[in-house]
Amino acid sequence: MAGDRAGSVTGGVAGSVAGGARWVLHLDMDAFFASVEQLTRPTLADRPVLVGGLGPRGVVAGASYQARVFGARSAMPMGQARRRCPHATVLPPRFTLYQALSHEVMDVLGAASPVLEPVSVDEAFLEPPDLAGADPATVTAFATELRRAVRERTGLPASVGAGSGKQLAKIASELAKPDGLRVIPAAEQDAVLGPLPVRALWGIGPVSGETLRKVGIDTIGMLAATDAREVVGLLGSAMGSELHRLARGVDDRPVAPRGAAKQISAETTFDTDLTAMTAVHTAVEKITAAVHRRLLADGRAARTVTVKARTADFTTTTRSETTAFASRELSTLSAMARRLADTAVGEGGVRLLGVSVSGFSEAPPLALFDAVPSAQGWTTAGPVGLDPVALDPAALDPAALDPAVVDLGTDAGAGAGAGAVANEASDPDRPWRAGDDAHHADHGHGWVQGSGHGRVTVRFETRASGPGPARTMDAADPALTRADPLLSWRPEGPAER
Ligand SMILES: [Mg+2]
Repeated sequence: MAGDRAGSVTGGVAGSVAGGARWVLHLDMDAFFASVEQLTRPTLADRPVLVGGLGPRGVVAGASYQARVFGARSAMPMGQARRRCPHATVLPPRFTLYQALSHEVMDVLGAASPVLEPVSVDEAFLEPPDLAGADPATVTAFATELRRAVRERTGLPASVGAGSGKQLAKIASELAKPDGLRVIPAAEQDAVLGPLPVRALWGIGPVSGETLRKVGIDTIGMLAATDAREVVGLLGSAMGSELHRLARGVDDRPVAPRGAAKQISAETTFDTDLTAMTAVHTAVEKITAAVHRRLLADGRAARTVTVKARTADFTTTTRSETTAFASRELSTLSAMARRLADTAVGEGGVRLLGVSVSGFSEAPPLALFDAVPSAQGWTTAGPVGLDPVALDPAALDPAALDPAVVDLGTDAGAGAGAGAVANEASDPDRPWRAGDDAHHADHGHGWVQGSGHGRVTVRFETRASGPGPARTMDAADPALTRADPLLSWRPEGPAER
């Protein structure tokens, strides 16, 4: 049996692993946001889907694998992603639904292992006590059951990696994607780690990566083979010894539940002090973008932005700004950070810049991300296999159905300010927008595929219904009302649990 063979492999090296065979698992949902859209809007199941802001400064928050084939990626400007994948369906994020499904996933993981460390809305580490010292076949069986349980509860695919520590587990889950499982026995970990670029190591930044590259250390294997003293000389004692240990597969960091972080921050120390304000703005935007990526991964929005600046004489100044509504929009956070930098940076060169966001809320107004124009012309989520029979031809502006001509000139998020947009989001009378959840008295639950000229096209389908028909109707049809996004996943309402 495969289990016997795998077991003997581990048995041979177990004695050399300090503290016995530890098994850490990393579960990562596959293309989480996009997968949720494909699950609950079945017409999109096999299609390229981009989730994110549609405004001129919109950013991709999620891309389905069918869109990734064309080079679309998370954190990419939406305009760039749409040029790479013009036939993608573009939808505003439904964070309340993603959050609800995240809770379901964490619930399954918590039941499987008391030692659980959620990393973000769609990934977590586990170290099931029962697996301590287990052979790879047992770990494989456990992880297979875990993936099955997550899919049964949510309908969504997840990948799992397993190894002797967090670093290996995370690398393994990456290798397993999509919808896969990779167990790395201790005897194989050097062979897996060795060829990977040093940049794949946990916690290594661009500066350290470049330092190593300059002396010819390109792979994790090369770093592992380098003398520890030399690595410390290159990277400093704290980072050098930590990275050297990780490169050799030594990773005893515990899997532990974390309290929710109070802030998300990033900072950069410059090789040469920045003296021009344009350089400061460019740097602040870059740092804010990095903070923003982690904010999105955490599924949160922030009210407060803080900028820290340290000048050449080591004077440190911080400036903060807090808004009425939490935002997760890069353009909003970036503009705040730039403004703050203007006042935080004094005379003389800037040696260090930092940006942090805090004052989190988990469920920001959806409209902050949803800058789809609505007042003028027809807007659409893009091609979703439009059903020509169901569409009312009189309502169709054929040119407008081409996503390339969707009007991107209205950026409600940036132009109107967060407060105005938030108010609009809670306004039941605001116009229908692509991606809205809707309920019709006769046709049930659906989602808005396009709207304009007083008409709205709704595709009536849920996770349970399978692909459904699109129907075009009067936007003011009293039978059509706004609906809870959760009903697209669980049409029958809350289960009795
Ligand atoms: Mg993921």
